Amino acid sequence: MEIKELDKEWLIPFYDRFNIIITKGKKHFVFDKDGEKYLDLVSGIAVVNFGHANREINKAIKKQIDKIIHASNLYYNKLQIKLAKKICEKSFKAKVFFCNSGAEANEAAIKVSRLYGNAKKQGKNKIIALYNSFHGRTIATISMTGQEKYKKGFEPLLENFVFVEANNVKELKEKFDENICAIFLEAIQGEGGINKLSPEFVKEARDLSTKYDALMIFDEVQTGIGRTGKYFGYQNFDVEPDGFTLAKGLGNGIPIGAFVVKDKIADLMKAGLHASTFGGNFLACAAGLKVLELLDEKMLEKINKLSEIFKSELEKLKEEFPDFIKEVRVYGLMIGIDLKEKLEVKNIINEFLNNKILTLRAGTNVLRLLPPFTITGKEIEHFCKVFRKILKNWRSK
Ligand SMILES: *Cc1c(COP(=O)(O)O)cnc(C)c1O
Repeated sequence: MEIKELDKEWLIPFYDRFNIIITKGKKHFVFDKDGEKYLDLVSGIAVVNFGHANREINKAIKKQIDKIIHASNLYYNKLQIKLAKKICEKSFKAKVFFCNSGAEANEAAIKVSRLYGNAKKQGKNKIIALYNSFHGRTIATISMTGQEKYKKGFEPLLENFVFVEANNVKELKEKFDENICAIFLEAIQGEGGINKLSPEFVKEARDLSTKYDALMIFDEVQTGIGRTGKYFGYQNFDVEPDGFTLAKGLGNGIPIGAFVVKDKIADLMKAGLHASTFGGNFLACAAGLKVLELLDEKMLEKINKLSEIFKSELEKLKEEFPDFIKEVRVYGLMIGIDLKEKLEVKNIINEFLNNKILTLRAGTNVLRLLPPFTITGKEIEHFCKVFRKILKNWRSK
């Protein structure tokens, strides 16, 4: 039977899949069942940042598999301590809870925010989030997500989320008060369309959080682990949050999530308030440790160099095709190409797939690229050449 039919027979149809059967990967390439090679510019959605089948990461996880994979969080785990320390070395002194995904990391952050607020004052349990944000697919995280399409039909949702338009300082000031226990921000909205927050807005959010004793938490699930050219997305701004969440890139494909929060908040927590069976198991931590070892200043330099190439090449394309490209937004290797309405992004993604290049969408009509850090100028050039060809063809249609 065709895989399409088998998929339909056995899997809950939550996904609209592209017509490709991936069986293998190497660096920034994936291969289908017939051995056809595709350029991967999406990294499994900002997950496989260090490339497929990364030699060093594979060596580390293979070694760990033969020692021990899982023992439970009822026992001490040296690797969790090492990984927590490594994350804090690249951010600030804090304490870490490990889980298995982005939504779970945000769940932990929401629970800690509620515990923090409720202990301070009755009614201090509201959380500010932004319109157009994305924080995951659990009931709590869709409740915190500022996009109707992820919420519709799942009501009743969790209450006490207050939404503010990104970069609207006036609205933020109006909606912030002593009943807010936390504000959640993506430094650059990923699913929402690659939209970077303004420095003024982020600074105001910091000031108001301090003023009203609320936690400022960055959702770094997509922007963390070098993606934006910094270790973490918040480092693009001149602020220090009270906490942040990680997942996607942290294990280079091995599921792992983390909630990182400053000592003064972490120290208010007690045994039994939260837990995860798999969270921070030995295998996941071994992957995370290798990832953070590979993510050093030199790697950031490389990411920023590649980013510059992307930026200048894409700006050229925008000048050549002002009828199709509205705006180009390049932050490290987190890239959005905002297309004019007449050019539907899903058609462009399919054209790229026909040319053996994997791309993504975001927002309403944004072509999104999240390439592995292993790519080179050669692949960027190839991508632009194909893009130019597609746009030329489209123009003559
Ligand atoms: C992907 C994503 C999540 C959800 O992560 P999962 O691992 O799918 O639960 C949360 N926040 C942001 C910003 C994301 O990009």
